Amino acid sequence: MPSGKTHIAVELLLWPGFMAGYYYFSQPAWGELALLGGAYLFASLLLSPDLDLRHNSTRRRWGPLGFIWVPYFKIFKHRGMSHSLMFGSLTRLIYLGMVFGLVLVGLSSLGFALPQDAPAWLNERLLILLGVGLYLPNVLHVLLDRVVSVFS
Ligand SMILES: [Zn+2]
Repeated sequence: MPSGKTHIAVELLLWPGFMAGYYYFSQPAWGELALLGGAYLFASLLLSPDLDLRHNSTRRRWGPLGFIWVPYFKIFKHRGMSHSLMFGSLTRLIYLGMVFGLVLVGLSSLGFALPQDAPAWLNERLLILLGVGLYLPNVLHVLLDRVVSVFS
């Protein structure tokens, strides 16, 4: 299996290529490019499919917040649903959304006022860019795992 370092190296090496390609073909606003690039880096560094392992470099990158992924690796067996091309990212995004939701519920019960609506600048195009940026590293990770397991 490729190590966490190999996955990160491949994903980070391809990142400038994706950014340049997207810039070349769609001439996006800088904010859109930053959103796509930021989402890609976030997913690559912090949402790896290998969060389904007890010990992994991605969880270490979460620092003191790494504990939030303990239920995730207990729920998802290694290279199961978490490594699905289609649903892998979704499992982590839904999981992270639930953790974030619990934090918001906690803050709200402590009396903090929370925004009720999505920000006005958020539109369909930005959500798609966000989704692509979050999915791409997952796809690369899973494909690399599959290619290496075929040849080993
Ligand atoms: Zn993996």
